[in-house]
Amino acid sequence: MRECRHFYIDGKWVSPIKASDFQVINPANEIPIATISLGGAADVDKAVAAARKAFEWYAETSPDERLVFLERIIEIYKSKIDEMAETISLEMGAPLTLSRAAQGPAGLAHFSEIVKVLRHFKFEELQGSTLMRKEPIGVCGLITPWNWPMNQIACKVAPALAAGCTMVLKPSEIAPLSGYLFAQILDEANLPPGVFNMVNGDGPTVGSAISSHPDVAMVSFTGSSRAGIAVALAAAPTVKRVAQELGGKSANIILDDADLENAVKEGVQACFRNSGQSCNAPTRMLVPRSKMVDAAAAAKLATDATNVGDPFTKGTSLGPLASKAQFEKVQLSIKKGIEEGAELVAGGLGRPEGVSKGYYVKPTVFAGVRNDMTIAREEIFGPVLCIIPYDDEEDAIRIANDTPYGLSGFTHQ
Ligand code: NAD
Repeated sequence: MRECRHFYIDGKWVSPIKASDFQVINPANEIPIATISLGGAADVDKAVAAARKAFEWYAETSPDERLVFLERIIEIYKSKIDEMAETISLEMGAPLTLSRAAQGPAGLAHFSEIVKVLRHFKFEELQGSTLMRKEPIGVCGLITPWNWPMNQIACKVAPALAAGCTMVLKPSEIAPLSGYLFAQILDEANLPPGVFNMVNGDGPTVGSAISSHPDVAMVSFTGSSRAGIAVALAAAPTVKRVAQELGGKSANIILDDADLENAVKEGVQACFRNSGQSCNAPTRMLVPRSKMVDAAAAAKLATDATNVGDPFTKGTSLGPLASKAQFEKVQLSIKKGIEEGAELVAGGLGRPEGVSKGYYVKPTVFAGVRNDMTIAREEIFGPVLCIIPYDDEEDAIRIANDTPYGLSGFTHQ
């Protein structure tokens, strides 16, 4: 059992002002693996004060000085990349192969990319007689989800550091251990005190204290639409800037001339990647109406070939969902799909055969789905694919765009 009760404030690991333990659960076996602290508004005040103080000088550093910090972080991140991948698999259940290939390296990739950008970025530009100067906005509040934990943290922290901003991060309380390791990396990189601060906690307490804090100039939030709206509302009275990345229900249009079997197989695999817990997952597969039966058969084949198992076992392509709440939410969605009359082609309710522990679900495919069914409207965030028929390309585009979301889109031809 790991002890991760501290917050990282002003360059030091500090205890929460008021103790409030929270257990991090291994989703593969439902056993607690670590204890973190849930912070409060007073911890956020402390972290924001440190960030505000550091902003006074950090904002004035040169890009070259900031490049030194970023390059040091990259070196240390590289030395811990295996530990990072293992930590992510442990806390949120992604197969280790995926964590090694994508979840861990994604964090590094954001830092490497921002270094390239910063080397050539023009903070000042003369346009006619006007000098355009891009200045760091101030203290940034960063709130991240559990599904691609390090990707989300790094894609907020790296650009903020590069721009000359200071920050307070709140990682997801469901998967906070990668964030803890990340803070250790920044500490080891000797990032000066106050530039980066981390307070663990839940959304309604720490998330909302960050969003509403008068000394936070901008909030960058990734997560559900529900929480994104709460963040924007909490941020409004202090007129801070809000950047949001929310959910998705992306369409994957398989055109009439595509190699159907292959396109369906790739679409199924992409939908199930990371147990379907990706905001850009292609969860609505659009196929020509005349090919629905063949598409359903190909999807069943691809689903049957999916290897559900322990994230640390070789050959696993689909691990458990990240949490009990997520497991229950996905079960409800599958039930709804059955009730609304979609054709269950593969998977269904309950855990996979022979599995009694862990937040594992059956990878599930519905065919003959109408775009007005709940399973086609709402983000499920699990390995559940909806195959929807279309009449012609115009119809396919209409269906693809007929969604409250707008994150990504895919096509096969
Ligand atoms: P969530 O919205 O429950 O939580 C995300 C973060 O927000 C967590 O740190 C949480 O503690 C915090 N939070 C929750 N309520 C809050 C509140 N009232 N005020 C401030 N912060 C609050 O989402 P989740 O369940 O962790 O993640 C899944 C969702 O995130 C999915 O809907 C997914 O599509 C979305 N997501 C989107 C992207 C993207 O790039 N667009 C990336 C990853 C995840």
